[in-house]
Amino acid sequence: MSIVIAIDGPAGSGKGTVANILSEKLGLVYIDTGAMYRCVALASLRENCALEDQEKIIEIANRIQIEFDEERRTFLDGEDVSGLIRTKEVSQIVSPISSIVAVREILVKKQQDIAHGKNVIMEGRDITTVVLPDANYKFYLDADVDERAKRRFLQNQESGIEMSLEEIKENIMKRDYNDMHKEVGSLMRTDDQVYIDTTHLTIDEVVEKMLEVIKEK
Ligand code: C5P
Repeated sequence: MSIVIAIDGPAGSGKGTVANILSEKLGLVYIDTGAMYRCVALASLRENCALEDQEKIIEIANRIQIEFDEERRTFLDGEDVSGLIRTKEVSQIVSPISSIVAVREILVKKQQDIAHGKNVIMEGRDITTVVLPDANYKFYLDADVDERAKRRFLQNQESGIEMSLEEIKENIMKRDYNDMHKEVGSLMRTDDQVYIDTTHLTIDEVVEKMLEVIKEK
């Protein structure tokens, strides 16, 4: 039987970190769908495409090749952009770009194709609801916004990305609002997700909780 784990939650809730660990522990392919929206944002920035020019953004989303390798690096048309997709400029436009319905349709199809027939762990905003609604395990990770901003601040420092804590918090709050109010693919809680508030938990504790749920089923 294939194992399909879907995780949704807001920025900084710990989805990426725990998905990474669980993918190794359980031998699953890890798919970071936020990185895919970030690739469309980076490519749009590089082509000086205005946010209003939806047709061009859709054309870019259709044209670009997005790949991941086993070390979880992200490639845009063959170039390693793992660091470049995390910059302030990309973070500022990724949420509005991901609100374009046709962009979502293109990326959801790509995500479903990558996952097809594989044992996967996929994380994002609409994975439990739209991309993999038949997943065996569905989680919603959450945390207090100050804690999430602090986590992202520390991650950015490690990667050499310059953004103040205030700037990060503001960006996260804007994205939270936008991500929860989309026409299609909104971040939402549903009854079939296991909800975990990670605010006061260590990464190991979150992983442990998720493994308990997986073993129970
Ligand atoms: O997960 P990450 O914070 O890197 O995602 C960047 C942005 O991509 C999110 O703020 C959201 O707007 C968008 N996204 C989305 N659907 C997903 C994953 C990410 O709309 N499945």
